[in-house]
Amino acid sequence: MKTLKKQQYDVAVIGGGLAGLTAAIYVAKAGKSVVLIEKAKRLGGFAQTTNQKGALFNFGPHAMYEGGGALEILKDLQCVPKGGYASKGGMVGIFQGRMIHMPTDLTSDEMKEWGQVMSGLSQIDTDSLRSVSIQEWVKNNIVHDRVRLFFLAMCRQWSYSDNPNAISAGYILKQGQLAGFGVRYVEAGWQKVVDELHKLTEQLGVTFVTGKKTKQIVTENGNVSGILLSDDQKIETTSVITAIGPHDVYKLVKEAEQTSIKNGKKNPIHSTQLV
Ligand SMILES: Cc1cc2nc3c(=O)[nH]c(=O)nc-3n(C[C@H](O)[C@H](O)[C@H](O)COP(=O)(O)OP(=O)(O)OC[C@H]3O[C@@H](n4cnc5c(N)ncnc54)[C@H](O)[C@@H]3O)c2cc1C
Repeated sequence: MKTLKKQQYDVAVIGGGLAGLTAAIYVAKAGKSVVLIEKAKRLGGFAQTTNQKGALFNFGPHAMYEGGGALEILKDLQCVPKGGYASKGGMVGIFQGRMIHMPTDLTSDEMKEWGQVMSGLSQIDTDSLRSVSIQEWVKNNIVHDRVRLFFLAMCRQWSYSDNPNAISAGYILKQGQLAGFGVRYVEAGWQKVVDELHKLTEQLGVTFVTGKKTKQIVTENGNVSGILLSDDQKIETTSVITAIGPHDVYKLVKEAEQTSIKNGKKNPIHSTQLV
């Protein structure tokens, strides 16, 4: 990994997860000098794969939706990883301490409703449901308890979140629609994608600082003038791309209360959803 070669860059990217790496590539491709700051010693953020005695474990993402943004970007960057598709043979859940196999253990009424919900998914106008929670949507649109639970399990898988009262139905159902085009599971884990993106950033001359946290985005008269690292080193730049959570961004900007960044104050939800 490169170390800081100079103190001034056109753009600083904060966060070396998949979003930060991708942003750095596009900015460098546009001919700008870029420095990327990652507080951890390694790149990738949530996209980590560890090798335990030859078995690969993904910490975060390992699946990409055909038709989703992540795959589109990786295609554009010619970094599409090899992958496979899971069989859609059925589902298994635990309900009141008992294993329920889907579809065989559902009643014919439950099966009928499940079929209706799933086949109607692609027709839903998801934009109109942005401010409705998925919990509310399920309550109003699904009658049978066990069908609701199976559907909420699908929602957890589509959103990587288990907070149905806080997550927008519009967002999750859109994810469900995308899942209908197929979900590609990345061969050998997402570390492979991180490594490919990292290679590309190196070719494009991006400078990396790892193992140091950005502790402040410095502003003067409302304009960005640089970033301050955990060891008090200042990097001068007039443009910053944050690829971290909104709450973390809020903490980095002193004047946040006077800007729209204040919206991130109470928003610990993760920065990006790639699929
Ligand atoms: C269990 C689980 C499973 C998931 N499965 C999938 C999946 O199958 N497919 C999919 O597409 N998505 C999946 N996701 C979502 C996916 O993990 C995220 O959308 C994606 O990894 C986020 O990437 P990112 O770059 O936005 O953020 P991150 O990966 O969080 O990267 C942010 C980086 O910023 C660094 N950072 C933070 N603050 C600072 C600072 N002040 N200074 C410097 N560096 C800083 C962090 O160390 C981190 O490396 C899953 C998530 C979870 C939790």
